[in-house]
Amino acid sequence: MGGASDLYVKDVLNLGVSPEGLLDRLKAKFLSQGGVLREGFAIESVVVQRDGVLVNGEVKGRLLLDGMGHFSPIAQQARGGQKPEGVCLVVGTCGEGFPESNSGDLIYSFTPIVNQCQYFWEAFPAKDGRTTYLFTYVDADSDRMSLTELFGEYFRLLPEYQGVTLEDIQFKRALYGFFPCYEDSPLVMPWDRILAIGDSSGLQSPLSFGGFGAMLRHLDRLVEGICGALAADCLDQRDLALIQSYQPNLSVTWLFQKTMSVGMGQKIPPDQINWLLAEVFAAMAGLGDRVLRPFLQDVVQFGALSKTLGAATVRQPTIAIRILPQVGVGALVEWLGHFLSLGMYSLLYAVFGRMLWLGERAGRGGFVWRCRLSAWKYGSGNDYGDHG
Ligand SMILES: Cc1cc2nc3c(=O)[nH]c(=O)nc-3n(C[C@H](O)[C@H](O)[C@H](O)COP(=O)(O)OP(=O)(O)OC[C@H]3O[C@@H](n4cnc5c(N)ncnc54)[C@H](O)[C@@H]3O)c2cc1C
Repeated sequence: MGGASDLYVKDVLNLGVSPEGLLDRLKAKFLSQGGVLREGFAIESVVVQRDGVLVNGEVKGRLLLDGMGHFSPIAQQARGGQKPEGVCLVVGTCGEGFPESNSGDLIYSFTPIVNQCQYFWEAFPAKDGRTTYLFTYVDADSDRMSLTELFGEYFRLLPEYQGVTLEDIQFKRALYGFFPCYEDSPLVMPWDRILAIGDSSGLQSPLSFGGFGAMLRHLDRLVEGICGALAADCLDQRDLALIQSYQPNLSVTWLFQKTMSVGMGQKIPPDQINWLLAEVFAAMAGLGDRVLRPFLQDVVQFGALSKTLGAATVRQPTIAIRILPQVGVGALVEWLGHFLSLGMYSLLYAVFGRMLWLGERAGRGGFVWRCRLSAWKYGSGNDYGDHG
């Protein structure tokens, strides 16, 4: 980053998933278990009734899982059409002709702030060659550049990034998207019998465009919560809210997102973001893999975060003062609240985490306890060991 030394880690971002293969397997399993699939069935209306949810006036069930992605009409209605606080723009390609390499870049930056954006790059080997992405964190200001303009920047800078000319590359496909992020996440539905899952729930961190990975990480928790809610008939709004409850380790990442983005009218030194990231990553590297790896795998923990902040402050005592004009006092105070909650969740999980027997009670009591325990566990990043 901006002249800082490279930092190497093993076994992070080392897994590729074929969407076609995954969907085929899921479909076969779902059908073999007696599931009914209606491909091409567009959800146009949902009516919550006393004893169920009616979709398009013809399909009725006890619980509706909204997996319609970031632009789910149900999630948009639940958020009252609110503008997202942050957006991650991503453009990239997959192609052949790059220098042979079995390694990838998790996050790489070599330019200062341009167009009120800090550009980050990611690259990794793929089935059809090499995937390279340019991504940036912005607000939802309507004057922000379009994805087409960002593609222009991608092709302008790709040769410098990968040491190639555009003529060297046989592009196989273009990949792009934008990910709206809401500070009020995960999304708690205001209705009975509806639960958001996947991108529509906003469960992924505003720092990563790894919504699929976030969903996988929470899969055990969600499956347990959903099965428990159905078994105990806990399907009203208040009970379902326990499944998608507050996660302090998600909320603390909002400040990081703010330190990695620039407001439209804001003036900050062009190398500030590169400088800050170089300092923070150097501090984390000094603390070893136990601090660095969870963070790179999108899991924030109280102990690791506290040590990182301490080490970064020792390296650069003025670090907080330097970022203050960029993020604002309000955001810093809000962050402090989430940071303290993160500590509280870690403590609650340490104290009550073994009291699993309380969750074995039948009915609502057991369901509520299991939801609380998993909120403390996942909300403090204590699920990390479960996934490797
Ligand atoms: C360029 C790019 C790169 C990415 N890289 C990664 C990565 O490296 N790692 C990672 O973990 N994640 C990555 N993601 C994110 C990942 O793709 C998403 O998090 C994931 O697909 C979310 O799954 P989902 O099922 O919640 O939503 P989606 O995949 O968006 O699926 C929602 C589905 O709902 C359907 N739908 C919408 N409205 C209706 C309606 N009214 N009726 C019926 N159906 C409807 C849509 O057609 C769609 O099929 C990337 C995304 C992009 C765009």
